[in-house]
Amino acid sequence: MRNIKDTGLIQEEPLIFELGRQGRRGYSLPRWDVKEAEPTDLIPSTLLREEWEGFPELSEVDVVRHFTRLSQWNYGVDSGFYPLGSCTMKYSPKVNEEVARWSGFAGVHPYQPEDLSQGILRLMYELEGFLAEITGMDHVSLQPAAGAHGELAGMMMIRAYLQARGERRKKVLVPDTAHGTNCSTSSIASYQMVEIKSNEKGVVGPEAVASEMDEEVAAIMVTNPNTLGLFEEHLKEIAEIVHRKGGFVYCDGANLNALMGIVKLGDLGVDVVHLNLHKTFSTPHGGGGPGAGPVAVKKGLAPYLPIPVVEKVGETYRLNEDRPQSIGKMKAFYGNFGVLLKAYAYILSMGSEGLRRVSEMAVLNANYLMKRLKGHYFLPYDRPCMHECVFTDRFQERFDVSTLDIAKRLIDYGFHPPTIYFPLVVKGAMMMEPTETESKQGLDRFIETMIEIAREAEENPELLRQAPQKVKVRRLDEVLAARKPKLKWTGEK
Ligand SMILES: *Cc1c(COP(=O)(O)O)cnc(C)c1O
Repeated sequence: MRNIKDTGLIQEEPLIFELGRQGRRGYSLPRWDVKEAEPTDLIPSTLLREEWEGFPELSEVDVVRHFTRLSQWNYGVDSGFYPLGSCTMKYSPKVNEEVARWSGFAGVHPYQPEDLSQGILRLMYELEGFLAEITGMDHVSLQPAAGAHGELAGMMMIRAYLQARGERRKKVLVPDTAHGTNCSTSSIASYQMVEIKSNEKGVVGPEAVASEMDEEVAAIMVTNPNTLGLFEEHLKEIAEIVHRKGGFVYCDGANLNALMGIVKLGDLGVDVVHLNLHKTFSTPHGGGGPGAGPVAVKKGLAPYLPIPVVEKVGETYRLNEDRPQSIGKMKAFYGNFGVLLKAYAYILSMGSEGLRRVSEMAVLNANYLMKRLKGHYFLPYDRPCMHECVFTDRFQERFDVSTLDIAKRLIDYGFHPPTIYFPLVVKGAMMMEPTETESKQGLDRFIETMIEIAREAEENPELLRQAPQKVKVRRLDEVLAARKPKLKWTGEK
């Protein structure tokens, strides 16, 4: 018999393989008057498994309960506050999910002819227009499936442009406050990355860029707002420096939640920018589901956009594949259409005033959080932030309490921890992004808990080092879990 570990309604749940009993079935049917078919009667033997041993056999209610319980172990934005910095874990209105499931959209087949797909083509065309307007850019491709994928599309367009001009530039400048994907993208796009140090205010100074900028540099990749939650206030000047030497400015706009309706990145000299629809525009980020990382460009780069491109000719929408300079396809068909649909519904339902208000509230909430926690936790860059703020464990170090302990203790209080140990430029970072969808009461509860944890660190540090206590699994060997994930049932735990 397994150990009884249930507490209240938090039930322990074995693996489905352990739950199964031979011969148990998920259905019961009246006795049939035809011969029962064997799998071998119906399926070619080459497609059949050799052995069936060990497969779980369960009743329907066992299966439903198993997965319902597992789903309750999961912590999501629908269950509580989720201040995971750089991820914009905000609540997305359910109506947009509803719209994405309408059969007129969900049932469309990508091979359906254009004249029978005018509605969805129009939707894509208009969504591109909205995103161009929001970012201040000229053209948009909705194809990339993620932020990092949009970055790659953008860098490939820059490379194609430079090649067409007969140039082979080798380097890409990346500030130390850029998102980690910017470094990966520059090297996957075959560029050598040159790091630019941010200044004492946590942003990139024009001098730092000027001293590295030369004719070998294809582009600078700037995250704005950057990973410290700060606005890159010199971007316009930096863009001029880069442009003067024939380079491009790539802006990582995944954190657009802070800027909508307030700043148009295109006005700051940005040539390419990607957005994360699965952060800002009504698809949850990090849920393991599909995402979309549209990439927006200025006119000069338009010939290089991924194919197909949606065009409007008279009153008709069509897909154009005949674009000889295109970098090609980034994704099968047109990208993750359901995500695009939710973004479209979200933008229409918010309106331009509403989107601006989203960003204002996101910034206000982050600054409120920052102001109230300052003094309890060390704030390395003490200046107004955008949509997120970064604290560290410096005040708690003397009690031998670390960022990890603080994050784990939050779990005991029913909160998802913030992003920790990122950005790398800050030692022991705790990066908190409250988003606009939290109420003041919700924020206050989190703030008071953080203050309580700071007190515990001083008075009873062991409590933090032993956290979390009130959970099924305590501290996991995260390195082992990442390096040797156990994805297959072998009969042993
Ligand atoms: C989330 C994020 C990304 C990466 O987006 P993915 O969809 O996870 O690839 C890139 N840059 C920034 C600033 C981000 O916050």
